[in-house]
Amino acid sequence: MTQQKGFTTTLLHADRLRKPEFGALHQPIHTAVTWGFDDVQDLVNVFQNKAKGFAYSRQGNPTTAALESKITMMEKGIATVSFSTGMAAIMATVFALVKEGSHVIASSFLFGNSRSVLTTFTEMGLDISFVDATSVENVKAACKPNTCMVFAETIANPATQIADLQAIGDLCEEKGLIYVVDNTMTSPYIFTPYDVKASLVVNSLTKYIGGHGNALGGAVTDTGLYNWANYSGIAEVLRQQIKPELLGITQIRKRGLRDGGGTLAPEAAHNLSVGAETLALRLERSCGNAMALAEYLNSHPLVDKVYYPGLPDHPQHELSKKLFRLHGGLMSFALKDGIDVFAFLNNLEVVIKSSNLGDTRTLSIPVAQTIFFELGPERRAEMGIPEGMIRLSVGIEDREDLLNDFKKAFEAIS
Ligand SMILES: *Cc1c(COP(=O)(O)O)cnc(C)c1O
Repeated sequence: MTQQKGFTTTLLHADRLRKPEFGALHQPIHTAVTWGFDDVQDLVNVFQNKAKGFAYSRQGNPTTAALESKITMMEKGIATVSFSTGMAAIMATVFALVKEGSHVIASSFLFGNSRSVLTTFTEMGLDISFVDATSVENVKAACKPNTCMVFAETIANPATQIADLQAIGDLCEEKGLIYVVDNTMTSPYIFTPYDVKASLVVNSLTKYIGGHGNALGGAVTDTGLYNWANYSGIAEVLRQQIKPELLGITQIRKRGLRDGGGTLAPEAAHNLSVGAETLALRLERSCGNAMALAEYLNSHPLVDKVYYPGLPDHPQHELSKKLFRLHGGLMSFALKDGIDVFAFLNNLEVVIKSSNLGDTRTLSIPVAQTIFFELGPERRAEMGIPEGMIRLSVGIEDREDLLNDFKKAFEAIS
């Protein structure tokens, strides 16, 4: 296509424009682990990064490459590396880029497993500060001479705090820090971290991008905004072979994916790629449903508090309006003291009691007893997570069915 097209049109035509065999509209699922070359020089050139191509599927394959190029387009980036899960992508990014003796600043409201993996890195000697990233002042105060990276998320799970994304981006630019933004909760349809000067964007493809709860995957995208030539953590051997703007993402592919081994399977890449085609449609619907549910719950006498950026009393409501196209599909709420949370949840029929988020189906989970159980009551209190909190990932069901399901569940317990 000659002219720049919109978000969904571009996604729908991306595979076809790679000209797969027989005019296929989808990139085929390439299951080959390895590729054969007629001339050994061609194999050598792929190994030495002198020619494009595939040598061994652990570090890349045509099916995952097609998905990566779509994510790059969606995120306004220059290159993407895909992984078997979002956690593999996060693990690989830190592992590939952060050197001994350097310091990382991370949001204290990070996704539980991200916080857990960073904590494991601290046990291996890495210096990490966790700060409340809803104000850039806390990030600034945590900066040390050896700080190399800031890791933030867009909307936190489960209490929906929004990081001071723009101001942190300005700070990272000024200080030359690698700015990693986990965009999972918003997805590139709602927000592109490129716009706040992120260096790297992480997505769990398992969530909104795949969208159907049928495949795990993760990705890291380089926005092209960070000057890797000046970063001391880049391996000398790469500096000799790779264009400066691709040094960071290449090191993630080599050390994070090739050496780490968290490779996305081609079958999963295909499912995620097909799922991504309807990202815009699904998000319009689930964010609309989320807004309606938030308003309903917020005015219900048995509800103590609703956490949703679309509500005017949310602490970062104005920021959410400014930065995001929609306020997201995730919300949490706390029932009034003394109400049996489990009894309430067990009365829901349309809404499924389940982990995961970003599915087409609405999923609910009691937070303190599950995803934040390991933290214990003290850390939960510090993080502002009530013991009776329920997290909802709102799906694309017919709105009346969702509202009626909640009405019925409230009636059953009152
Ligand atoms: C789910 C999630 C991850 C991890 O992704 P997986 O694909 O489940 O490994 C990382 N970050 C955020 C914000 C998430 O919601």
